[in-house]
Amino acid sequence: MKTLKFILAAAIGVLLFACQPTTPPCPEDSGVVPEIERSGPEPTTPEETEVYEPVPPKVTPGAAATGFSSAPSDAIVLFDGTHLDAWYMAQDSTAAKWALNADGSMTVANRTGNLQTKENFGSIQLHLEWASPAEIIGENQSRSNSGVFIQQRYEVQILDNNDNPTYTNGQVGALYKQKVPLAMASVPSGEWNAYDIVFHAPEFNEAGQKSKSGTLTVFHNGVLIQDHVTIEGIIQYIGWPTNEPHGDAPIVLQDHGDNSRVRFRNIWLRKLD
Ligand code: MG
Repeated sequence: MKTLKFILAAAIGVLLFACQPTTPPCPEDSGVVPEIERSGPEPTTPEETEVYEPVPPKVTPGAAATGFSSAPSDAIVLFDGTHLDAWYMAQDSTAAKWALNADGSMTVANRTGNLQTKENFGSIQLHLEWASPAEIIGENQSRSNSGVFIQQRYEVQILDNNDNPTYTNGQVGALYKQKVPLAMASVPSGEWNAYDIVFHAPEFNEAGQKSKSGTLTVFHNGVLIQDHVTIEGIIQYIGWPTNEPHGDAPIVLQDHGDNSRVRFRNIWLRKLD
């Protein structure tokens, strides 16, 4: 009898609390992406969101995967080595101040600020090549730190990690402070790396709530290092990612402000929406 009463009570409970059309919509039905549960309170220091283990394995890329590749016919070329016309300074929209080099590359001009595309983009396939200098200066996050921020908000880290460990969710190829890369596939310092990135932009409903998470796939010198990962939100140096609504936005290249001397060349993208 007790068992029967328990089953009856449980059934009534389920009926009362189950998601019904007349009740507020269930999370899975609302079109809103629920926030990822975090452990503990909101971090107040950068260190609280640094991850150190496990350390991704090192992979030596194949020679054919590195080096210059020309853009496909339908690509938007953002940098072909001849000018910086697709870019301006992020902080004030003035002309790009980074150095244009004779070899068809450009170099981060220390403490001039970030570069930003003049055009806004949604979902994209992005190709870019970068090289950290052969001359080693600095360590940890201060050794040739740059990065590509997609939609101004989602950074794929660029860093000289050769014999230079750092927190793994901030190492080369990380979706900064969100996703540790699957492998560390850098070439020796001074040589050219290639990133091939597929980014699907997050979507937001009219109420400003995220209705679809963004996703990111990254090949580093032909090695898959981010495999269609879900982007949790807008990257924060301190604290959990946030999800303020936004639309199409520029691509930003980072001046980390500590003499990174990173060079870029051959930057192009294809729109996916
Ligand atoms: Mg960076």
